[in-house]
Amino acid sequence: MLVVMKAQATPEQIQAVCEHIVQLGFRAHPLPGAQRTAIGITGNKGEVDRGNLEELSGVAEVIRVSKPYKLASRDVKEEDTVISFPGTDAAIGGRNLAIVAGPCSVESREQAFAIAEQVAAAGAQFFRGGAFKPRTSPYVFQGLGLEALQIMAEIRERTGLRIVTEALDNETLDLVAEWADVVQIGARNMQNFSLLKRAGKLRKPVLIKRGLSATLDEFLMAAEYVMSEGNYQVILCERGVRTFTDHTRNTLDLSIVPAVQRLSHLPILVDPSHGTGRRDSVLPMARAAVASGADGILVEVHNQPEKALSDGPQSIYPEQFVRMMDEIERIAPVVGRSLPRGIHIGSEAPGGPVPSSL
Ligand code: PEP
Ligand code: MN
Repeated sequence: MLVVMKAQATPEQIQAVCEHIVQLGFRAHPLPGAQRTAIGITGNKGEVDRGNLEELSGVAEVIRVSKPYKLASRDVKEEDTVISFPGTDAAIGGRNLAIVAGPCSVESREQAFAIAEQVAAAGAQFFRGGAFKPRTSPYVFQGLGLEALQIMAEIRERTGLRIVTEALDNETLDLVAEWADVVQIGARNMQNFSLLKRAGKLRKPVLIKRGLSATLDEFLMAAEYVMSEGNYQVILCERGVRTFTDHTRNTLDLSIVPAVQRLSHLPILVDPSHGTGRRDSVLPMARAAVASGADGILVEVHNQPEKALSDGPQSIYPEQFVRMMDEIERIAPVVGRSLPRGIHIGSEAPGGPVPSSL
């Protein structure tokens, strides 16, 4: 159920409707939009009696949302969600493409800094690096843990790059959230519902990677889990799914980009690194991702990929990253986007502050 407030509704009226919903025993999610505020209602087992709600002052109408995902749906919020990073001009969603680049894993201070400096110079705004790694084998490198988080915090300090890193489990979620700017939930955890709910209690952006065999609905329901707990800063990321083909590690499913955008207001990035598993496929698929309308790219970059402790074969060289940036910068205007080069600290996005998500 969704309560649509009148365009001229006051904050007090919105607050009063939220309180009324809570008194009924449900949860209220006020979602301010460009034209008007909508208030999502969750926690109801069956129909909510719309009678009283429609009579409250400032209410325009009460609508039933038939989709299983509600807060993630465009029915609830028409305009695209833009996630901003206070004190910087970085944003995920909106007109500007967001570029997240860095190694699969932080392996050492030297390695992480060398790569960070190169991706920053090429114009990335976000640095990625695994601290806690989901590895298929328990006998291989599992990540440097806290040490990696500390190294990435130093990178943020030095370069301004905002940090994206994965939280692997409930035990380390709060620790990761303390150090990171964006908490990544990996493909293998996309349906770890207790982790999603815990991530929903954070007040930090959460990036959810598509599960290895997740349908569009399952992907959006993962976002809904986070949002249902009150965290509306959710970013989706297509990273390839399992298919019968063996010329790539996964099959990058770019057709999910317009499908997500049709149904949801949430931003969606594309990861051509895990999506293909092959360095020689990363640039072509990054170009295609931008052409498909994605809100940005998440890509693995390594200065010595042949020595990488994880995902070397799919990591591009820093020089290739520069080329990728140059190429997508030219494609972006065709799809009404632009590529900001570099992050500016102490400034907001051009055109004034970006409204925070939802
Ligand atoms: C990663 O981004 O390093 C990663 C492990 O991704 P995924 O969860 O998509 O496999
Ligand atoms: Mn990886």
